[in-house]
Parts: sequence; structure tokens; C-alpha cells
Amino acid sequence: MGLNVILMSKAPIGASSCTLYVGGGFRAAFGSYTKEDHFNDTLYGGRMINDRSLVRVLVEEAPSRLLELRDFGVNLNIGSRGAYVGDGPLTAGLGLIKPLINYAKEIGVIFLENSMALDLIVDDSGVHGLIVFQIPSGKIIPIYSKSIVLSTGGYSQIFLRSDNPVRVSGDGCAMALKAGAKLVDMEFTQFFPLGLAEEGKPPWLFPAYDAKIINRAGEDVLLKYKFSKPLGKIIVEDRDLFSRALFKEIDDGLGFDDSLIMDIEDKDPSIVMPDSSLHLIRVLGLSGSRFRIAPTAHFTMGGILIDENCSAGVPGLYACGEVCGGVHGANRLGGNALTETIVFGARAGASASKYALTSKILKVDCSETIHSFQKILDKSQSGSHDIDNLRFELRHSMWKYCGVIRNGNRLRDLLKIIDELNVKVDDATVKSRFDALKLFELRNMLLVSYVVAISSLIREESRGAHYRSDFPNESDGWLKRIYFGMKDGKLYYGMIILT
Ligand SMILES: Cc1cc2nc3c(=O)[nH]c(=O)nc-3n(C[C@H](O)[C@H](O)[C@H](O)COP(=O)(O)OP(=O)(O)OC[C@H]3O[C@@H](n4cnc5c(N)ncnc54)[C@H](O)[C@@H]3O)c2cc1C
Repeated sequence: MGLNVILMSKAPIGASSCTLYVGGGFRAAFGSYTKEDHFNDTLYGGRMINDRSLVRVLVEEAPSRLLELRDFGVNLNIGSRGAYVGDGPLTAGLGLIKPLINYAKEIGVIFLENSMALDLIVDDSGVHGLIVFQIPSGKIIPIYSKSIVLSTGGYSQIFLRSDNPVRVSGDGCAMALKAGAKLVDMEFTQFFPLGLAEEGKPPWLFPAYDAKIINRAGEDVLLKYKFSKPLGKIIVEDRDLFSRALFKEIDDGLGFDDSLIMDIEDKDPSIVMPDSSLHLIRVLGLSGSRFRIAPTAHFTMGGILIDENCSAGVPGLYACGEVCGGVHGANRLGGNALTETIVFGARAGASASKYALTSKILKVDCSETIHSFQKILDKSQSGSHDIDNLRFELRHSMWKYCGVIRNGNRLRDLLKIIDELNVKVDDATVKSRFDALKLFELRNMLLVSYVVAISSLIREESRGAHYRSDFPNESDGWLKRIYFGMKDGKLYYGMIILT
């Protein structure tokens, strides 16, 4: 539309994003898989509390949007229930990101890298830009714009164990909430059962198709929990049940520290493990047939409440991708996350552009907010709490009290811990610009964690990926969605009743 666009990222563009890590599968109605199949499967997976109008957009627009990726230079192959990036699972992320970066450069998009968005510049008339922390210089500056699209990804890093890149800290959710948008479905996080849990190694996905899972008592966990399918099927079809079984074993003290053993016995790894696990064995220097595993936070279903045009309910503010809630309901179907980014990315871009065409840059005074961020940095020169320790404390508590298995007592304890951490974070110590980045992230993580914990406490049932041991069943009375807003710095919540 002839507008000037800045693409901003905390890291070099495309790095430190989940998209770089993907297996490369998109779900869409191709071949005999119809749009109705896609719609019904998505609702069934989401346990019927998805935003149906968003799901309708997803399934209707997915095939044409995916084919369009080829025009941007992506090597896209069509499969049976969707499409996949043809560069192979280990480099699919790069195969998707690289051509899009090249295309964006070609059409004159300006890249602003190593810059963290701290806050939206907002007044009664809407959003007018961002306050930005420039990591290399340590400067905090305003960037004014006619509209903004938040596509900052999810918040899985609030959990100690997550396969997401370390910068996925929920900044977009925190910024949107403070600017007057709403967050929805925040209690729903997808956990993948088989994450690596070897000491000193990252908790990345580590699936196998055929292996035994052994606890400290030497029991076969799959037999104990009466899983009768092959492991390869269990990790796809019974991801929640399996994650819960593993978490319970560890919780009951039957783990090896905080893990269980996955034993492929004398089987050939290249037959019983996918390429991604074999790759990790190589690059991380693992050996033998027994590996420590535990569930890992993989995807966050909750996020910013948007309409079909990706408006976040504040004039000039749009959002797309994992930062949003609604498409996936209580659990996400494989391949739908990438499809969501492509379908709603296009919609958000179009909406933000249309808005920008009829609005002006408004340089509202934001010196007070910049000053308050600067004050946080100045004060932390002499703080007494180590930023890494605080971050660990939050992530460990979120994992323990709000991880795969939750209950009312644990969640109430967690809220107290978050309150205490909110006090400590005001006395955190920052020794470098990198520490400053971590401090700003932690403040967002604390806000998002609080919302996740309260939302989990309010939903007194188990649905999809949200499991409450004190309310273990799904209840029809809970066919509703919980949203959070913020007014004058205070959180409030309400329900969206599904009709
Ligand atoms: C290992 C793995 C495999 C997966 N495989 C698949 C798959 O095969 N199919 C599928 O459908 N889904 C898959 N997913 C899920 C999917 O990758 C994500 O949901 C999707 O890529 C999210 O895209 P996004 O653009 O919304 O966010 P991201 O790709 O996470 O990008 C967010 C960007 O925002 C930047 N950012 C964040 N905060 C700020 C800030 N404050 N200031 C500036 N920049 C900021 C980040 O640095 C990052 O560049 C997988 C996820 C993982 C972790």
C-alpha cells in the first residue's frame, strides 16, 4: 500500500523465534482433507472453546495463503492434511524464514534488530508507537508509528522446562494488556511429553517411536498407565494424558531427580527415533540407549483477544500468531500454529495498513514512561537480587505449581510466590545491558505468569491441556472462556459465554 514498514526484533530478524525451530508442517484443507474436516478437527482438539469465527477464517484462507508462500520463494510441498517446507525437518524453519526475509528486504521493509519493545505508546485515541530498548547502546527511545502489529510469539519461557527459544517471554501479552487490550485462554499451555532432561542440556523435544519409559522403581510407565498404543502414536494422539502420567511419576517421587528414563534398549536409533532426535544425539554428544526425559512446555494457546481482522480492540493495535488466543481453544492441533501465523499475519498486515492510510503520526509525550524505565535501570545498578536467580525462581515455581498438573492449593501458593517476586524484582541487580534485557523480560514474565496462575485457578475443571487434579473432569458448565483486562494498573477478568 506504499507505506513505510519497520520490522523489529529483540534478536537478529528471525533468530530467537519459534518459527526458526519448526518441524515445518502446516495444516490445511488439501486433497481429500476438506475445510469442514479441518474446522471440526480444530474444534475437537480445542475441546470446543475455540473462537469459531477465527477458526472459520483459518480453514477458509489456509490453502490459498499457503500456496502464496511459493510466490515469496518458500519451497512448499503439499501433503495429505496440509503442506510442509520441503527443506527437511532440521532446516524447515530457515527454509521458511530466509525467503521471507529476502522478500521483505526487496520491498523496502526496514529492519530494526536487537531492539526490545518495552511498552506501547498509547492515549485515549489509540496506539501511536513503541518505547524501545536498544540492546547494543542501552538507550531507551520512542518510535512513533500510525499502527502496530504485535507478533511477538508466546510465553512458554515462564516455565522452567520449555523447548522454546529463551527470548519467548510473553512481552507482547504484557504490553497489550497494559495498553488496554484483553488476554484470553491464558490457562491453556501445551506440554510435549518427551523433552530431553539430561543435566546441562536444553529441554528440547526428544521424541521416539518405540521405547520403554522407566521410573526409579524400575516400573514400565507405559504399562502402569495402561497405554496400549505404540509410543509414536501416544505422543501424537495422547500427548496430554502421557505428559500427565510422566509429571505424576516425577511428582510422586518416582523420578530420577526431575526426570524419567527413556530406554530404546538394543533397537537401532535411526529406526526408532526421528531425524530431529538423532540430530540432538549428535550435536549434544549423547550416547547409549537410555536418555533422561520429562515433559516440556511447547506452545501457549492463550494470548491477545483479537477479532477476525486481528484488531486487539485498541485503535491502531493489531496482533497475529502465537501472541494471540482463540484459534486453538484448550489445545492446539499439530500444524495449526504455522498456518495461524500465515493466515492471520496477512490479515493483520492488511488491517494495520488500512488503518495507517487514514491516520497520522501523533507524537504524544511519553517522556514520563521512558523516565520510569530508565529509573528501573538506574536503581538496579545497586540492587541486591541476582536477575538469573529471580528468573529461575519464577520459572521453577510456575513449573512446579502451574505445570502439567495443577490444583487449587498449589495455585494459591504460587500467587503468593509471584507477589514476593514482584517485590524482589524491584531490588534486582543489573550489571550489563544483557542483564537489563533479562530484567525487562522478567517484569513481563511476572505479569503474564500471574494471569496464567489466576486463570488456572478460576477454571475449576480439566479441559484440553489444562488439568486440575482437584477438578479432574471436563464440565459443560465451563464451555466459556476467561479473559483479563487491566484498568488503572489493576487486573480484572470476565467470561465469554459460547453460544
Ligand atoms: C520446536 C518447535 C517445533 C514446532 N513445530 C511446529 C510445526 O511443525 N508446525 C506448527 O504448526 N507449529 C510448530 N511449532 C509452533 C510454531 O513454531 C509457533 O507457534 C510459531 O512459529 C510462532 O510464530 P510467531 O511468529 O507467532 O512467533 P515467533 O516465531 O516465536 O516469533 C516471535 C518474534 O518476536 C520477537 N520478540 C518477542 N518479544 C519481543 C519484543 N519485546 N521486542 C521485539 N521483538 C520481540 C522474537 O525475538 C521473535 O523473533 C513448533 C514450535 C516449536 C518450539
